[in-house]
Amino acid sequence: MTCALSIANQGHEVYLVEKDTDLGGTARRIHYTLEGLDVQAYLRDLVRKVYQHPLIHVYTDAIITEATGYVGNFVTKVKSDRGVTEIKHGAAVIAIGADEYKPTEYLYGEDDRVLTQLELEDQITKGEDRLINSQSLVMIQCVGCRNEDRNYCARICCSQSIKNALKLKEINPKMDIYILFRDMRTYGFSEDYYREASNKDVKFIRYELDDKPQVEAVEEEGRPVLRVTVTDPILGKRLAIDTDSLAS
Ligand code: SF4
Repeated sequence: MTCALSIANQGHEVYLVEKDTDLGGTARRIHYTLEGLDVQAYLRDLVRKVYQHPLIHVYTDAIITEATGYVGNFVTKVKSDRGVTEIKHGAAVIAIGADEYKPTEYLYGEDDRVLTQLELEDQITKGEDRLINSQSLVMIQCVGCRNEDRNYCARICCSQSIKNALKLKEINPKMDIYILFRDMRTYGFSEDYYREASNKDVKFIRYELDDKPQVEAVEEEGRPVLRVTVTDPILGKRLAIDTDSLAS
């Protein structure tokens, strides 16, 4: 949308083709930034500008059925909520978007107390009682990342965890929050928020790839908890943390 607005503001006609029903993609699931900015307000404003721009034509629920031509002279057929449209255009910008990774470990999908960071953010925003009143929350970092399948750092999840940890500490300062990490990579000035979380008693415990945390659902004195066991390299001991919720 930013790109469409930039091109349209230079006087070129833009056809914005969106496969979903609404514009915004994953940003629709992000409510606040680490710096405290309101993402939904920003997004609403962006969508409004796009729809109101006389040179931008939006097609939602769209799929591209045919694309031919060459640089400077493309013809693309789009099937959308407006029917079938043939668009002649000189250039194309491909915005691939992003899907959230769904973990295959740590009881994700088997126990509804295990959430992704976006699901956690959603529950925080909705003020879900069970989460907000939790005594404890464990976050596990680098899930499905920096391993053989995906040998890179996603660069956003450490900041996302710190963001949600700080938000929860603001709402419920008594909640015990543990972040199990391999390396904390809060890039650039985000490091300040890492320090802030540490000062607010968020506990950081490092783990190694060959000794990952283990999670099991158990009962402790009649209370159902998720038991997370992890080796603390500083203490040199195996810790067992009983938690009400887990984010990965
Ligand atoms: S180091 Fe942090 S930002 Fe990088 S993949 Fe792991 S959790 Fe994500």
